[in-house]
Amino acid sequence: LKALVGEPEQRDIETLVARVIRDLAKPEPPLNLDEVRTLLVLDRHYYSSTDVGLFEEFAHRIKKGGRMLKINAREQIRQVLERAGLTGLWVPDGRKIFVDQDSPENKHRWIETHEIAHSLIPWHQEFLMGDDELTLDPACHEVIEAEANFGAGRLLFLGARFAEEARSLPPTFKSVQALSDRFKNSLKSTFWRFVEDRDPSSLMVGLIGPHPKKVGKVRNTKPVESILVASDEFRKRFGNITRDDLQALVRKHATFKQRGPVFEVADTLTDVNGVRKTFAFEGFCNTYDLMTLGFTA
Ligand SMILES: [Zn+2]
Repeated sequence: LKALVGEPEQRDIETLVARVIRDLAKPEPPLNLDEVRTLLVLDRHYYSSTDVGLFEEFAHRIKKGGRMLKINAREQIRQVLERAGLTGLWVPDGRKIFVDQDSPENKHRWIETHEIAHSLIPWHQEFLMGDDELTLDPACHEVIEAEANFGAGRLLFLGARFAEEARSLPPTFKSVQALSDRFKNSLKSTFWRFVEDRDPSSLMVGLIGPHPKKVGKVRNTKPVESILVASDEFRKRFGNITRDDLQALVRKHATFKQRGPVFEVADTLTDVNGVRKTFAFEGFCNTYDLMTLGFTA
């Protein structure tokens, strides 16, 4: 995610988010999106994907490559809405945010914040931000989306506040759960931020993936790709460790427990110079993903 967002853009977005947090008088977590919308004078609407009429008034403003598109508005909008993954829309004119009410309820907070981030980033203003690839070429669209996701993350974790609080807690899954609860963000996104941001100069690594000893019917037969997350220091010293290495480690230690703590062990990893180092590993399952946290004392 971070890789797609350039360093200068990261700094700019961090500054924009820090200003919002300052203007909200440094609120306590969790971030209240109603207050953010009031501050930024944003108007939120929920729509249903069958509710096409709502978008017709914007249809004529959709642009492609900077030019106005002469389109069959109703048809085009319908196509956009039907495209998989369309969950939100930012309309600069009138400062409107649309959230797909048919998307999973527990995703609404993220979707809304993603659209708020679009509204906040000045260089996104020239586009009508449907997450639809209609207004942009795919490569550019990908960067714009990554920037909005980066901004959403900074907002929901209250800028630098999350890392400060994470550092004051021990590097355990209990801490991740406590922070997820406090900031009202998903366990998975909190886990990700915890590994990357708690202390980039410490050795910390995480794996998010399927439970290797999943019991019962597997609904999704499509193989799930695991995600490796790591602190800067880990990437520097253990750049040789791959997703597959960690997956093998998880397979080795995972118990049949399907929910909550799955294992807690010490094991070694070998760094780029061939030096072995002992890590404490903790596996935790939220029934969807098995998240593994590794760190050195
Ligand atoms: Zn977007």
